Amino acid sequence: MSLDSSSYFHYAKHSLYLLNDLQYIPIKEDVAYSDTISSACGCPVCTHVTLNDLRFKEPKYRSILLEIHNYVAIDNLFKYAYRHSGSPHQLRQALLRINNRTREIDLIYNTLCAIEPFRNIDVSDEFLDRLYADLIGRKRR
Ligand SMILES: [Zn+2]
Repeated sequence: MSLDSSSYFHYAKHSLYLLNDLQYIPIKEDVAYSDTISSACGCPVCTHVTLNDLRFKEPKYRSILLEIHNYVAIDNLFKYAYRHSGSPHQLRQALLRINNRTREIDLIYNTLCAIEPFRNIDVSDEFLDRLYADLIGRKRR
């Protein structure tokens, strides 16, 4: 899965219901769903509509309802991540509590660890010149 600013729309367009860990459930007319799935979400859609209700909505109407739900699911995950973003380790632990995709989480963790030393540094031209000279061994052009 990947995420960008239009993910909520694209997942809805393909009738995919995002869970709070951003895994998804395809909504199909010939599949019965547990009502506990949507009742676990507190969004404006799920407080009124179950996944079984969504199955039989007109595709356009279902897509709009899924857009709203998916937007809230993504927003909630990012708010959760932000609350636990004090350090790469803290974020890794928080993500592992809600998702078991250790490979992807470790990729995020390793990336954050690589950029962590730059967190409180003013990345000025002078800083970049010094860093470049230290790493490359000559002046930056
Ligand atoms: Zn919802």
